[in-house]
Amino acid sequence: MSASILDGKACGLRLRERYRNQAEALAAQGQRPGLAVILVGENPASQVYVRNKVAACEAAGFYSENIPLPANCEQAALIERIHALNRDPRIHGILVQLPLPGQLDEAAVLAAVASDKDVDGFHTENVGALALGNPRFVPCTPKGVMVLLAEAGIETRGKEAVIVGRSNIVGKPMARLLLAADATVTVCHSRTRDLAAHTRRADILVAAIGRPAVITGDMVKPGAVVVDVGINRLPNGSLCGDVEFESAKRVASWITPVPGGVGPMTIAMLLANTIEAAQMRLDAARKPIAA
Ligand code: NDP
Repeated sequence: MSASILDGKACGLRLRERYRNQAEALAAQGQRPGLAVILVGENPASQVYVRNKVAACEAAGFYSENIPLPANCEQAALIERIHALNRDPRIHGILVQLPLPGQLDEAAVLAAVASDKDVDGFHTENVGALALGNPRFVPCTPKGVMVLLAEAGIETRGKEAVIVGRSNIVGKPMARLLLAADATVTVCHSRTRDLAAHTRRADILVAAIGRPAVITGDMVKPGAVVVDVGINRLPNGSLCGDVEFESAKRVASWITPVPGGVGPMTIAMLLANTIEAAQMRLDAARKPIAA
């Protein structure tokens, strides 16, 4: 067997075209979607991610602000900047690129973003809403995985889903989304005993580990759908995922490549969430004020 490719690049581009039209329609009603991206420091990988996000916003006709801050930026200055964006009517979404330099308190910084501008879905209010099954802003990467599966017509109901990784950004929200989509979900992590015994049961296997080739073909159930969230840079400069692509491709029915799989979907979902935020503002402005 040779798996079909879950082509996130093509899917992301298709969606971005749709979002461009929606952004124009919102702009015509006075709410051009606006996204502010804050990058603290000069982490090269983060710089690439931020550049791609800002370029995608501009291509979709959004208002966008790119806010670079020095690596030694103080917590109070960063939070003041976020508060100013919370008040700015041109901005519907605020993204603080992670990871932050060590002197900054990540939880306090994320809590400073107004929950109705939290297009990354990291604010405790939005995390709680997702956990309770009533989501508002869903983190972009796991949301992108769900859309990619849906666009390929892959059924989740009743399937065994195994997620390797339990981060707040990917693993945990991924588990909540698959559970909400009626999969039977197992979450594995670095302390899991006999990882392969779990992964071999998976109809849908999501790897979000951050280490190259942890998942090899012999760990994949024949016919499984394999989603590789990982982005790892090898010493030769090339990118690879957490799954050993060639061996897994021979066993799986569907597989995401790296690059060109989950990454482009993450960017597309950032646009989707910013459009949702702009639409929410428009709806709120139109709501009659109760007497
Ligand atoms: P984290 O480092 O926050 O989490 C990694 C998780 O993997 C942890 O839960 C850890 O377990 C688990 N883990 C580590 N080693 C093993 C192992 N050998 N066996 C089983 N589990 C293991 O990473 P993120 O979730 O933030 O990101 C994961 C990957 O996804 C990274 O490569 C990142 O670059 C990529 N990424 C890609 C995105 C995209 O758009 N494609 C977006 C976001 C992230 P424990 O909790 O026990 O430490």
